[in-house]
Amino acid sequence: MRYISTRGQAPALNFEDVLLAGLASDGGLYVPENLPRFTVEEIASWNGLPYHELAFRVMRPFVGDSISDADFKAILEDTYAGFAHSAVAPLRQLDSNEWVMELFHGPTLAFKDFALQLLGRLLDHFLTKRGERAVIIGATSGDTGSAAIEGCRRCENVDIFILHPHQRVSDVQRRQMTTILGENIHNIAIEGNFDDCQEMVKASFADQGFLKGTRLVAVNSINWARIMAQIVYYFHAALQLGGPLRSMAFSVPTGNFGDIFAGYLARNMGLPISQLVVATNRNDILHRFMSGNQYDKDTLHPSLSPSMDIMVSSNFERLLFDLHGRNGALVKQLMDDFRQNGKLSVEQERWTEARRLFDSLAVDDEATCATIAEVYAQCGEILDPHTAIGVRAARECRRSMSTPMITLGTAHPVKFPDAVRKAGVQEPQLPPHLADLFEREERCTVLPNSLKDIQQFVSAHGNRGKPL
Ligand SMILES: *Cc1c(COP(=O)(O)O)cnc(C)c1O
Repeated sequence: MRYISTRGQAPALNFEDVLLAGLASDGGLYVPENLPRFTVEEIASWNGLPYHELAFRVMRPFVGDSISDADFKAILEDTYAGFAHSAVAPLRQLDSNEWVMELFHGPTLAFKDFALQLLGRLLDHFLTKRGERAVIIGATSGDTGSAAIEGCRRCENVDIFILHPHQRVSDVQRRQMTTILGENIHNIAIEGNFDDCQEMVKASFADQGFLKGTRLVAVNSINWARIMAQIVYYFHAALQLGGPLRSMAFSVPTGNFGDIFAGYLARNMGLPISQLVVATNRNDILHRFMSGNQYDKDTLHPSLSPSMDIMVSSNFERLLFDLHGRNGALVKQLMDDFRQNGKLSVEQERWTEARRLFDSLAVDDEATCATIAEVYAQCGEILDPHTAIGVRAARECRRSMSTPMITLGTAHPVKFPDAVRKAGVQEPQLPPHLADLFEREERCTVLPNSLKDIQQFVSAHGNRGKPL
């Protein structure tokens, strides 16, 4: 399998190089040159497989011959064995023909574990093979950081530095990062906000001299391997509910458009999906595109669903590439204009094409809390605020009552107690593997909002705590 850039100028790469590269050298994002396609019979034959075996069948074409079948199977089995529910991604019924797929049974209680648990293992596999080491530098406002650290904690060849804004993440979120102790794990609290953290990560990619030749890897959702891992659970859910012989609808709490893009790919790979609902919070740039062909940058509005607080959606470019007949020059033009003007719209026909599949809704904090309360009263399920936005959008945008509607449950409600409390619902308890989270030892370094200080820290600790 070869991967090409959405802006058409970077060299095509194989899976291993795409995993290690992150962003393409022309500023674009990597996508598969040709998507694998499965027949309905083939998909139906996977019925009843354990999650890791289904994952092997869905992802096998994407990794190609960069990794042996035996190694890939072993990695997948190990990846999903660490989930606290033996079904890995269980479905919970809310109403007739309506479900939530619980994607929060991984070690950090959010769906990002599905991809980052795999990414850490794959990275280590390829780095061992090459005899190389790598450094990860990432910024987080919450969920990504802990999932990335958990995914890399056992990596022999990776040191991971996660920057979070000092005193601006929740206690649960901070402790999920800072209580994972290891000589290759480095939590840095920046005396600044999330944007400051992100700017420092970007600047470090642009000028890597301080790394003295050590490879720098991106783990944000532009990394293709993360999208790939998320395709699997769409197949998993459909197979539980009578697919692929009947079609399904999915509603996806959306920020950077990674998770829902995986659903779009599952459909293009042959899974019958009749509707995908883009559910956003007040930060609704995607809803404004889907409902009115206006992808216009707005200011950031902090919300009760912070993991979806974005101004632009980094994976949207991957959809634009397909909408424009995979013409990289056209996408480059659009993205260059967007960078200058902060606005983007597409030709009417292309927009109509997007609307054939996607519906959308923006849900504010008030409606989010109302939905948490409503669902709790209906069936006793406590939703986290992100999932609640998905359920609300599913209920309002649904095209057919006879098609199963599945909302992706992206986080465990215990991670976002404020919203649950505001909804007037009893706060959930930490699951057993995290029950002692507030007694554990924390390790974290507070640094000033200064690129020089951060880079000095990384070069002084980037080799299992020792200098690079
Ligand atoms: C990251 C995240 C999202 C948004 O996912 P995208 O792939 O960025 O669209 C939604 N909910 C939760 C809980 C998240 O952590």
